[in-house]
Amino acid sequence: MANPSLLILAGDGIGPEVMAEVKKIIAWMGDKRGVTFDVSEGLVGGCSYDAHGTPLTDETMAHAQEVDAVLLGAVGGPKYDKLDFSVKPERGLLRLRKEMDLFSNLRPAQCFDALADFSSLKKEVVAGLDIVIVRELTSGVYFGEPRGIFKEGNERVGINTQRYTESEIARVAKSAFELARRRNNKVCSMEKANVMESGILWREVVQEVHDRDYPDVELSHMYADAGAMQLCRWPKQFDVIVTDNLFGDLLSDAAAMLTGSLGMLPSASLGAPMANGRPKALYEPVHGSAPDIAGQGKANPIACILSFAMALRYSFDMGTEAERIEKAVEKVLADGLRTADLLGPEGGSPIGTSAMGDAIIAALDASL
Ligand code: NAD
Repeated sequence: MANPSLLILAGDGIGPEVMAEVKKIIAWMGDKRGVTFDVSEGLVGGCSYDAHGTPLTDETMAHAQEVDAVLLGAVGGPKYDKLDFSVKPERGLLRLRKEMDLFSNLRPAQCFDALADFSSLKKEVVAGLDIVIVRELTSGVYFGEPRGIFKEGNERVGINTQRYTESEIARVAKSAFELARRRNNKVCSMEKANVMESGILWREVVQEVHDRDYPDVELSHMYADAGAMQLCRWPKQFDVIVTDNLFGDLLSDAAAMLTGSLGMLPSASLGAPMANGRPKALYEPVHGSAPDIAGQGKANPIACILSFAMALRYSFDMGTEAERIEKAVEKVLADGLRTADLLGPEGGSPIGTSAMGDAIIAALDASL
């Protein structure tokens, strides 16, 4: 059987620095676990603009459509701020998401015990937290028509339209139920069915998909504002939360910060299954290119490494290997190793990007 294929787009700023640590893990998997990937590399964002005058070439886009998974670092930086909107680095990422039709965005909020003190919430509220927010990514109010700023009488009116079709709701609901079956079998769907018709339809369709295909999964519904309160009050009551694009944008950022640093947060964006049954998929850390620390070897590579672990789990059915990586991360944190972003105001001695990657490799070795 052919090796699983992976396209690496390290991008700009700290992207290549954190990706270098993922490459060490990929090499380790080949050496120690007998798992070999066909890895190719390409350019995205500012570096692609520098080389080709576009943030993503058609060739790289076509290649992304063919591989089993894309792993992206980060794009952007002050050097590109003045570029025309059409060629800004972020356009490369948006094109990937759009053309691959990545409608299901998975944002885990996982709190490693060693970092529980780092959260703005009480330790007992967040220690051991492990939830995933599934955000619909390609429809809803960010895309609905009509939109714009119009003149109405003597004043201007700004309009955006929340629009969801049944099939758009059904496919993201299915993705959440599938995910729940690999976890604790519990989905909470969030909308505002009390004040929005699109919310009423959302609730009905999620319930229909559940009753038809996933009766074994526990399903609850919650208004998104109540959900936001519950996320802060007792987040451990949730397993998988599924919600629309707008609410998901807010709730996933709030949930992410329960766990501490941006340098720890992975994400996955999944689309429809390909011919081989695997979903189209892009994995990336939540953070950006961090121009303030780029080139200094200070970046935390854990978000990117955990994004690779998500690829193992969701694209390659290698849940055990994903867990091995997550456990290795947990171990180095429990041993007290910290990149600068993981040190509180009281300070301490930070280690660099490469040393953190090496420590994770050592923990992986110790796990064998
Ligand atoms: P950012 O995420 O790059 O940085 C925010 C802060 O978090 C900075 O202080 C940074 O040093 C720190 N940080 C981020 N990742 C870190 C890591 N792995 N380790 C240690 N510290 C880390 O967000 P920003 O400063 O708002 O944006 C910088 C650039 O990145 C902009 O050009 C923006 O458009 C782009 N951006 C790209 C993406 C993406 O590629 N998906 C996402 C967000 C922002």
